Amino acid sequence: MGAQIIDGKAFAAEMRGQVARHVARIKADHGITPGLAVVLVGEDPASQVYVRSKGKMTAEVGMNSFEHKLDAETSEVDLLALIARLNADAAVHGILVQLPLPDHLDEDLVINSIDPAKDVDGFHISNVGLLSTGQKSMVPCTPLGCLMMLRKHHGSLSGMNAVVIGRSNIVGKPMAQLLLGDSCTVTIAHSRTRDLPDVVRRADIVVAAVGRSEMVPGDWIKPGATVIDVGINRIDAPEKGAGKTRLVGDCEFDSCAEVAGAITPVPGGVGPMTIACLLANSVTACCRANGIAEPDGLTA
Ligand code: NDP
Repeated sequence: MGAQIIDGKAFAAEMRGQVARHVARIKADHGITPGLAVVLVGEDPASQVYVRSKGKMTAEVGMNSFEHKLDAETSEVDLLALIARLNADAAVHGILVQLPLPDHLDEDLVINSIDPAKDVDGFHISNVGLLSTGQKSMVPCTPLGCLMMLRKHHGSLSGMNAVVIGRSNIVGKPMAQLLLGDSCTVTIAHSRTRDLPDVVRRADIVVAAVGRSEMVPGDWIKPGATVIDVGINRIDAPEKGAGKTRLVGDCEFDSCAEVAGAITPVPGGVGPMTIACLLANSVTACCRANGIAEPDGLTA
């Protein structure tokens, strides 16, 4: 293996430490405790795990954590009423509605009902517009975590060729905007892209956000390129015993690590950075809401 491993777990721990220090300073200097409200509708097991771990880490950095668990049958009217209350609550600086929502709820309507200043996921249409026009916004957590790892590894990204595989609103598109903001030459690839291997081979930076297990092999990677693997895919792992599973990314780790200059592992790469960036966004939102100077290094 030639590539340097970009240790997202360690970097995320460092970032959470930084967030905790800012939280302590905001409490001491301004008497305000940053607060994050997480809304979960239904019993999706993966969402329950994410919400639990978000709540635990929110408390660990000294912020207030408000969890709202609603029945899977909750009506849109009731969910919107809860969001309106959270929008009006001065103790709540960040609001996150865990996705996906049950089918009877209109995701766009719900997300766009969150006060953009409290939209710590950065999915509100106002934040999408602000990001794409290079204005101060709330930046989606997963792409923000990827950008922070890239900046930490490379310093300046200016002039680099970046290929983002995936064009979702939550990862691919905001990732491309952030890389463009850092003066990369950006290509967004997707399921209709012609000759994807050739497109990827031109990249100095590859961000894979597809959701297909180990889709990107090492022979697509330009020697020395940096590979950021966003994918989280659970596959069978008979080698661990009957019925066992393991997590893999969208890139074939071993073959990519042979060729790349640096690579994020799965697990332990992008995943931990996503939660650290959620906490960072909550502190940023609290500072902006209260006219407190924003700490350096917590947003794009
Ligand atoms: P989506 O399913 O919303 O988007 C997937 C994208 O991949 C689409 O744009 C799709 O193209 C593209 N795609 C699908 N098949 C191919 C193909 N064969 N070749 C090229 N492109 C293809 O996924 P998300 O963006 O929500 O998530 C992507 C992955 O990242 C998932 O594994 C998810 O679990 C993970 N993830 C991880 C997070 C973390 O914290 N680490 C956070 C969020 C997501 P098209 O638009 O043409 O259909």
